[in-house]
Amino acid sequence: MPDNYYKILGVEKTATQEEIKKAYRKKAHKHHPDKKGGDEEEFKKVSGAYEVLSDKQKRAQYDQFGSAAPGGSGGFGGDPYGGFSQGGFTINMDDLGGMGDIFESVFGGGRSRQAGRGRSRGHDIETDIEISFLESATGVERTIEHRIFDVCSTCHGNGAKPGTPIINCKTCNGQGSVVKNHQTPFGAFSQRAVCQTCRGEGKIAETACETCSGDGREKTNRKLTVNIPAGIADGQSIRLSGKGEAPVKGGMPGDLYVHVHVRPDKVLARDADNVRSRVNISFVDAILGTKLEVTTLHGNKVITIPAGTQPGTNFKLFGEGFPSLQGLSTGDHIVTIAVEIPKKLSRKQKELLEEFRAAPKKGMFF
Ligand SMILES: [Zn+2]
Ligand SMILES: [Zn+2]
Repeated sequence: MPDNYYKILGVEKTATQEEIKKAYRKKAHKHHPDKKGGDEEEFKKVSGAYEVLSDKQKRAQYDQFGSAAPGGSGGFGGDPYGGFSQGGFTINMDDLGGMGDIFESVFGGGRSRQAGRGRSRGHDIETDIEISFLESATGVERTIEHRIFDVCSTCHGNGAKPGTPIINCKTCNGQGSVVKNHQTPFGAFSQRAVCQTCRGEGKIAETACETCSGDGREKTNRKLTVNIPAGIADGQSIRLSGKGEAPVKGGMPGDLYVHVHVRPDKVLARDADNVRSRVNISFVDAILGTKLEVTTLHGNKVITIPAGTQPGTNFKLFGEGFPSLQGLSTGDHIVTIAVEIPKKLSRKQKELLEEFRAAPKKGMFF
């Protein structure tokens, strides 16, 4: 039996799809290879487990056979890279929480994480944004303002006073590393370590920049406009590459993760890319039929309730749901009809209903 996917995600075998999704998001964020303390191997494991458990059919197969792809088809289980390139290994971007460019860093292409000898990378940072239900459907632009280590505006990150040269580090002779000799009971051995003077760069400012004392970064109040795409759901995150903290002495800035929270609507609810709402109509309208104005993401729309509509009937407004994040499809709006039975009647109403009860029945009700 291969890896236990349930164990990898830390869920019970009886976990619901929602619980599996939640566990996956948490673990994927935690192990994301570009994050501090991230772990590429773990990340791949977690993504592999989710790939199977998030798919009803594959999950059932896995539960039964202990493997998601009996007969070796599907390309999963061995090398996730290979599987991916054959289309057998996919990550649902929606489920991942909108970290769309995750592939760049995990599956090659995009930037290399070993760029340059010992180049440092700034910390990733996180921020939260709250938007309304309607904004999550249309997309919205938000400006965030925060205090952050940004690249030094005076020296542009190289740590040198403008007009002064960058020279080879004298401590390591421009090597970026130094050899340390250790004496141990088992004999002497030497070890190469990153040079502390130049932090592995091999080069250093002759005269340090006065703004940042040679650090190459400064704390500033930064304003940043974030484009929140239409179709984003509560709990999803947007990753802005290179918008995190600037590292000490140049190198690559970290990433900024924007966690999006969607305020619930009083009338409308989200169900995948569909919108759901519930409308009460009177029992008379249900019996005789009526026209009804309902609230949708795109304003009020009139729907026709035919005569004889039963409680719990669903009416679908095609294309009135959320756009998918990839923009390839649009959900629908499903209106569920609830029928109200009056608890109090006027004398006249009662008379009419009594009359109705006494009227000859033509198999309509009984
Ligand atoms: Zn500076
Ligand atoms: Zn050095």
